Amino acid sequence: MILRRIYAIIKHAAQYKGEWFFILSELNSVKLIKKITKDSSKNYKKNSDRNINNIKIKENLKKSKNNQEEYKGQPDLRKNKYGATRKNVYEVIINITQIALIVTILSTIFIFTKYTPAYAVTLNDELIGYVSNKESFEQKIQNEVLTSSNENVAFVALDNVNYKYEFVNTNVINESSVINTLKDNSKSIYKVYEVSNGNEDDAVYVNTEEEAQEIVNKLKSEYNKVTDDLSITTLYLEEEVSDEAIELAKAKINEKLKAEQEEKEKIELRTVNGIYLAVLPVSGGKISSRYGANESVRNHTHKGLDIAASYGTPIKAVADGTVIFSGTESGYGNLIKIDHGNSVTTYYGHCSKLLVSTGASVKAGDVIAKVGSTGNSTGNHLHFEIRVNGSYVNPQKYLYN
Ligand SMILES: [Zn+2]
Repeated sequence: MILRRIYAIIKHAAQYKGEWFFILSELNSVKLIKKITKDSSKNYKKNSDRNINNIKIKENLKKSKNNQEEYKGQPDLRKNKYGATRKNVYEVIINITQIALIVTILSTIFIFTKYTPAYAVTLNDELIGYVSNKESFEQKIQNEVLTSSNENVAFVALDNVNYKYEFVNTNVINESSVINTLKDNSKSIYKVYEVSNGNEDDAVYVNTEEEAQEIVNKLKSEYNKVTDDLSITTLYLEEEVSDEAIELAKAKINEKLKAEQEEKEKIELRTVNGIYLAVLPVSGGKISSRYGANESVRNHTHKGLDIAASYGTPIKAVADGTVIFSGTESGYGNLIKIDHGNSVTTYYGHCSKLLVSTGASVKAGDVIAKVGSTGNSTGNHLHFEIRVNGSYVNPQKYLYN
């Protein structure tokens, strides 16, 4: 309908084209009249006959009009049309205004159908899409992105989301796509409880404090000697703790604490008055006489431990210390005595060869002598003694037990 109206207006405007020509020709006529009037004045002066001149002027005017008629060749148009043409000019102006108005309205309708104000959404300054309603969109973020159905999620982290008001083509608005992008770029943060014995490599991560406490209690009761530092720490991690991972970590820390406890118990067992006997004096030997034994070869109970071994087998210092004797003593044959501190000394008798001198510092495991059968001995063996404050102690309480 609007198009038909525009067509009608344009057609109407075309009809007045001829009248525009007429307006122009009328303007020429006025010029001619002025010229003729001028000429007539001259004639008046010359002839001094007003009437005659007037007739002449009229004739001239008529003549000039006839001339103009011939020149334009449009006698019908100019006849009695001057007033009517002025009226039509106004109509044309009104019609042009109408066209402009309609065009403006149509353009506005077109623009508002195709384009709309919307919010450009950026994530960390990068455009991720457009949404039409900021408030409802923010509500959607809250409900669909920042809220997790997983009860272990402490919160969902999302980087900087910003909005910019713009005029955009309607087909670029896609809220669900923007929501999905935000979902993909969000991070679920899980609150977890770390059970650790001071080393995070062996830590167990669980989802609840109760579960953590249960693990601590169990480990402390099983491995009481090595769980003093066992503690629970609350952490926020980007990864969820799986049941499988919990079981693996529990097995790992269990194994580690078990080994630590066994090591600690071994050290405790081999520690004499605070001195840890780290090394056996002879490895691969065989116990041939125990501490306290009454045997025909001697007239008193056995004060040490005999370890039978082949001639020349290395004899090692059982702990760090200082050699306080390296020489021959009756009954002991070739003998080495080491002071380990804390009033703890060890004796190594019947040696075939002595390898360290009195005053030498030795480390646990250092070879100090060789197995032999010197002194009161019936075969190759090491006579080994431990004394604390000069008193004999049973070596098998600590070694070869
Ligand atoms: Zn002995």
